[in-house]
Amino acid sequence: MKRFLSLLSLVLALGTAYAQQQSPEMVQFLKEFPQRAAFNTHSYEFIDVVDTPAPKGYEPFYISHYGRHGSRSDWGGDATYKVVRDILAKAKADGVALTPAGDSLLRESAIIYAKYDGMDGRLTPRGVREHARLAQRMYDRFPQVFQKGSGEIRAVSSTTPRVLISMNGFTTRLMQLQPSLHIDLDSGEKFMAYIARAENGTIRARTREELARRPASGEDFFTPVLHTLFQNPEEGRKYISSPGSFLYAIYAVAKVAEANDIDDNLFRYLPFGAVYRFHEDNFLSAYLNQCNSELNGDLRLPQAQELVDTLLTQAERVISGKSNRAADFCFGHDWPYLGLCSYFGLEGVGDRLSTEDAAAHWMASWNCPFAANLQMIFYRNGSASAPVLVKFLVNERETAIPALTPVEGPYYKWEDFKAFCAARVPKTQIVAHRGYWEGNRENSIESLRKAQMFGAWGSEFDLHLTSDNVVVVNHDRTIGKVNIQKNPFSALKDVPTLDEYLAQGEKNKDCVLVLELKPHESAEREDVLVEECLKALKAHKLMNPGRIAFISFSYHICRELAARCPGYTVQYLEGDKTPAEVFADGINGIDYHYSCFQKHPEWVKEAHDLGMSVNVWTVDNEKDIRQMKELGVDQITTNKPALTREILFGRK
Ligand code: MG
Repeated sequence: MKRFLSLLSLVLALGTAYAQQQSPEMVQFLKEFPQRAAFNTHSYEFIDVVDTPAPKGYEPFYISHYGRHGSRSDWGGDATYKVVRDILAKAKADGVALTPAGDSLLRESAIIYAKYDGMDGRLTPRGVREHARLAQRMYDRFPQVFQKGSGEIRAVSSTTPRVLISMNGFTTRLMQLQPSLHIDLDSGEKFMAYIARAENGTIRARTREELARRPASGEDFFTPVLHTLFQNPEEGRKYISSPGSFLYAIYAVAKVAEANDIDDNLFRYLPFGAVYRFHEDNFLSAYLNQCNSELNGDLRLPQAQELVDTLLTQAERVISGKSNRAADFCFGHDWPYLGLCSYFGLEGVGDRLSTEDAAAHWMASWNCPFAANLQMIFYRNGSASAPVLVKFLVNERETAIPALTPVEGPYYKWEDFKAFCAARVPKTQIVAHRGYWEGNRENSIESLRKAQMFGAWGSEFDLHLTSDNVVVVNHDRTIGKVNIQKNPFSALKDVPTLDEYLAQGEKNKDCVLVLELKPHESAEREDVLVEECLKALKAHKLMNPGRIAFISFSYHICRELAARCPGYTVQYLEGDKTPAEVFADGINGIDYHYSCFQKHPEWVKEAHDLGMSVNVWTVDNEKDIRQMKELGVDQITTNKPALTREILFGRK
């Protein structure tokens, strides 16, 4: 529903007119098969697939499969289906004549509405057939896995009914083909963390900003549609209060027609320019949110980590002989499937593209139709010393990983692929020092907002207590000539309070707030600072170990926080104590100047062995950032978040 509304609001914001550059490649792709304009509600296209012969002596022995559910009805209540039917039916009942095309759209939208019948997101019969056919093709294509293997298979599904029924369609066909198979089926909330982990709020916010920048003006799509549907377009116009939402409703009906076994092209009721734009809005939003885009890929790939780890661990157990399974099947949704393909860097679907390049070249409906799937097929030969090979099928087509060199054709060494995955997402996180302040004031609320929108793991800021116990955000002890700690708040000008700062902090759940509590003249004043900070955090509902971390040069403050907030990250800043000394005092982290780790690189491992977190400040030049990455610190605090990200992801 959310996605529908956000698209709808975009459409309404733009009115009915767009100017756009159409990509000849995309135009041809859509004209070749108009139903592709449905993007991720396009039904699966079964095409003949070709297998490159495996290297001599190699045979498949194990399959890992992630499959999206098959064709379904739309969701969002009946709004999408009902709008078109009701408007046309009302006009007709009032004696406003429809054209033959208008009559035909009324009839078809009524059929789809009846099939929907109040069932949001229901797997249609076509969706079941898609999965049965996929199973059949897999069985026919890799008989060795099923006939020579153990016959032991495990299938897990998302808890959503359409996915459970997809799993049922797939596995039932396999059992019909080979009743001796032993297939364990499972589903449950605890699997959802990896089967269906969604992209985060920051990614969605960045995508919205990016899409809002795309140009709008020019062609009028509404008038031609009125002429298509009504004998008297002026009369017809009176029944439509919102042209943008009416056009989108026609698109919405057209894009689920196929799922309901209506193979007629309902997109024909709209001008091609409108279809093109709706399609583009749909798939660009998905590409930017869910794939390895230049805009969001660095934030998106880590979200796929648990799914990647799960699939790789399952395969590794089979390869090492700890498990006897012939196959692991996982049934889920489009966004985790896209995240997985992106993590694996699979050519086509997982390419890292600019927004403009994605709009022109990302073949959306091939990449992510209903029942989209990724299959990893594992091969070995008789010799124990020969490497295990793996090939990747995206929607059953052999697909390359451009970053890796295959043994031959689409066959990769499993060990190479594992090493590629291990280095794909950096383990080190970025903390924006005093916010992302380039072009802004350090420690300003805007610098925090920019750090959040950048997608920094955390944003750091400095805290002092005024003489009348107001906590303010500022680095220096003085503002102008006024000493913050010795003066009342009324003596200060133009400085955010902690309360104001946290109001911005709470808006983004993905960016950790790193509070630096500055040393004060006495332990008593420091205790008041701690007390006031905790009070403010509670008031903003931020007392959550995932949302905040504490750092301080004051050992007293660190000890106080560690005692009062067990389970929260507290990092000591001074650099004058070994990790073991800090740990012995109950403090669970260090955040030292990089020169400390250059002198004592062993402290990183020492701290990790004690279960402590390691942060480092303030690392701004390439050589030092690279060195801290190599040392494996957990966080790098930097004034150069963008440069740090490039280095962490190995692009610089
Ligand atoms: Mg600081």
